[in-house]
Amino acid sequence: MLDEKLQPIFADVLRRNPGEEEFHQAVREVLDSLGAVIAKHPHYAENALIERICEPERQIIFRVPWVDDHGKVHINRGFRVQFNSALGPYKGGLRFHPTVYLGTIKFLGFEQTFKNALTGMPIGGGKGGSDFDPKGRSDAEIMRFCQSFMTELYRHLGEYTDVPAGDIGVGGREIGYMFGQYKRITNRYESGVLTGKGLAWGGSQVRTEATGYGATYFVERMLQTRKQGFDGKKVIVSGAGNVAIYTIEKVTELGGRVIACSDSSGYVVDEAGIDLALLKEIKEQRRGRIADYAKARGNAAKFVPEGRIWDVPAEVAMPSATQNELNGQDARTLVKNGLIAIGEGANMPSTPEAVQTFLKAGVLFAPGKAANAGGVATSALEMQQNASRDSWTFEATEERLATIMHNIHDRCAEMADTYGSPGNYVLGANVAGFIRVAEAMRALGIV
Ligand code: GLU
Repeated sequence: MLDEKLQPIFADVLRRNPGEEEFHQAVREVLDSLGAVIAKHPHYAENALIERICEPERQIIFRVPWVDDHGKVHINRGFRVQFNSALGPYKGGLRFHPTVYLGTIKFLGFEQTFKNALTGMPIGGGKGGSDFDPKGRSDAEIMRFCQSFMTELYRHLGEYTDVPAGDIGVGGREIGYMFGQYKRITNRYESGVLTGKGLAWGGSQVRTEATGYGATYFVERMLQTRKQGFDGKKVIVSGAGNVAIYTIEKVTELGGRVIACSDSSGYVVDEAGIDLALLKEIKEQRRGRIADYAKARGNAAKFVPEGRIWDVPAEVAMPSATQNELNGQDARTLVKNGLIAIGEGANMPSTPEAVQTFLKAGVLFAPGKAANAGGVATSALEMQQNASRDSWTFEATEERLATIMHNIHDRCAEMADTYGSPGNYVLGANVAGFIRVAEAMRALGIV
């Protein structure tokens, strides 16, 4: 429930950001958690601090013209929302997807601010992207698009200013083309300006795996609070992109059996456990569809076009595709089928109704801004390595990631206890993230 003092703040957010539903949803969820905090510490509501946290510091929208392989000119819209820099340079990924509009980027930037705070590292929050659809585009077209995008964006970036990375539709290939263009325009080999780079040119070990591995560590820690683990559990992971693939990898390593994954065309069920080498080959190399996986597995796997992956009975679910992919009905189905834990690898994949359903049913629920923070935390480790012109081993980096995820888990659990809702990681994550940002903002004055 929204505290009385916070109601006018939310009303202002609605008025100022018309039609941006995902942004409203993300703000609402955080404000719902803050009533208990301002009751205990009224100073956090002074000097319009909460109003300022809800208003991005800067929003950049620009034209991205590019030429396809047939000589036809296309126009896309580019965005960068520099949300909050109280804790460090703006940090957050770039999303290339046809559904992207300002509201998407604003919701992601808002979430990122709290997520980044939760990592305990010196990074502010930001997000960017474009309504460009990379699907079916040639390598040369992707390169031209990335170059055009960076030709405008570069003036807003810098290792002390704003440091983008990948998100949906942006991986190592795209980061490479954008880094190349940034380097060319500025004539600086400024490694720390982008993260998610290749290992040969300033990237960090474990960055590719980090979001999926991190989400798995978080859920493992959460299961431990009930004296359980992944061992022998049936798991479903939605999506088949970077987050999903490395979630499947780590869950499998920890003894779980991932029996289903999906993409926008449908889902596959493979009772023997997803064959990761095959999935990687199809998704990372061929850039193919999930139906190809079922085809390659013959009778061992079945493909369900357009169905709901959440209908597949499992004990653990890891939504790792996109926002609002899991609704109230899906949540009820999962609970009915015996779900005990859910870890959000994607950003805001569960609708508010789904979240409430999980919390009421006593399911262990790890919200995205805590559970998927391993990606950006490892980006901050990449920035550290770039700043010291060093590179660490896979083992050392993974150990840092595991420690960070355990700390985030414990901090969320502690805050949930302190603010009267033990086991409520949604409240814990929102409060813990908020307090860190708010403390810095208070110290920095009204800026
Ligand atoms: N896009 C990722 C996220 O949602 C990673 C951001 C980053 O590494 O900067 O957190």
